[in-house]
Formats: sequence, C-alpha cells, structure tokens
Amino acid sequence: MKDANCIFCKIANGEIPSQTLYEDETFRVILDLGPATKGHALILPKEHHANLYELPETTAGEVMKLAKKMASMMTERLGCEGFNLVQNNGDLAGQTVFHFHMHLIPRYRADGQKIGWKPQEVSQAELEAVKDQICQE
Ligand code: AMP
Ligand code: ZN
Repeated sequence: MKDANCIFCKIANGEIPSQTLYEDETFRVILDLGPATKGHALILPKEHHANLYELPETTAGEVMKLAKKMASMMTERLGCEGFNLVQNNGDLAGQTVFHFHMHLIPRYRADGQKIGWKPQEVSQAELEAVKDQICQE
C-alpha cells in the first residue's frame, strides 16, 4: 500500500531520488536531509504505514534486525563511538513525516547533540499505580 501524497512513499519506492545506503524488497535506508550528526539515516519501509501502531508486527521485527545491521556497518565505516535509535509517533512525540521511519543516529564525542529527557521525581506508589494501569486485563 502506497499513499500518493506521502513523500517517504515516493522516496522509498525510488520516485524521488535520495542518498540510499541500503535497499531490499521491503526497505530503503536513506541519509536524512537535516542530519543531527554525520551519517544520520532513516529506515523507510516501502509500504505506507503512518506509525508504529499501524506497522505490521512482522515488519516491526524486520526493522529492528535492519537497524542492528546498519548500526554495526555504519559504526565501523564512520568510526562513531555511540549510536541512537529514535522513532517518533504522533506530532506530540515529534513526528513530522507520517510514514513510519526509524532514525539511525551515529554519535561522536562533542557532536553537540543531546537526545534525552528530563527525569521526573516519582514515588513507589505512583510507579505501582502506573504499572496497574498498564497491566490491567
Ligand atoms: P520525524 O520528526 O521523526 O518525523 O523525522 C522526520 C525526518 O525526516 C527529519 O529528521 C527530517 O530531516 C527528515 N526528512 C524530511 N524530509 C526529508 C527528505 N525529503 N529526505 C530525507 N530526509 C527528510
Ligand atoms: Zn508513505
């Protein structure tokens, strides 16, 4: 399934050119046009799925296998010293292109980037309440 108005559908299926690092029947891996660091890449499924919720389970598993393969290869070739996998779902979570993608972000000493969050204080009772909310039948 493709979406005629989706830029990542067009890139993944080769209708719009991209700097492609890897391609197979299911995926294309491209360099991000607004990289966080040198080598920042995106895994794009060729089929259109807006986000993780819509991604078929099989594809989700294949994405992680490919992320591992790409991270190992890119770390060796680029000489980076760390690696972030980032995957945003929904505009509140920072998603700007609504075709599932996984960010592959090589990290270098003093690369000036910070990917993280501010830890909040929480009590054991609050943790238990959240656990109960998530784990209800
Ligand atoms: P997200 O915020 O998780 O939806 O990430 C979207 C990413 O796509 C951003 O890092 C953009 O820099 C990148 N991006 C947007 N358009 C293009 C494009 N035409 N080619 C390559 N990367 C793109
Ligand atoms: Zn798409």
